[in-house]
Amino acid sequence: MILKILLIVGLIAAIYFIFIKKKPQQVQETKDANKKDVPRSNEMVECSTCQIYCSLDDVLLSNGKYYCSKECLEKLK
Ligand SMILES: [Zn+2]
Repeated sequence: MILKILLIVGLIAAIYFIFIKKKPQQVQETKDANKKDVPRSNEMVECSTCQIYCSLDDVLLSNGKYYCSKECLEKLK
């Protein structure tokens, strides 16, 4: 009896895992596609004032130069 229950539970678990595994694979594929669409978000640029590297999403662009924060931007003025 226990073996039969284990077999059934194992079968259900196997079916469950197959269905669960399919979903994350699809999510990973869309994530990879998103990464390919926005490669610039990982680019690092140097702050013109303090020479700290910041991601391109966070930096401020002024007169063709990058600044990590408003403070650095105002220091040069
Ligand atoms: Zn800075």
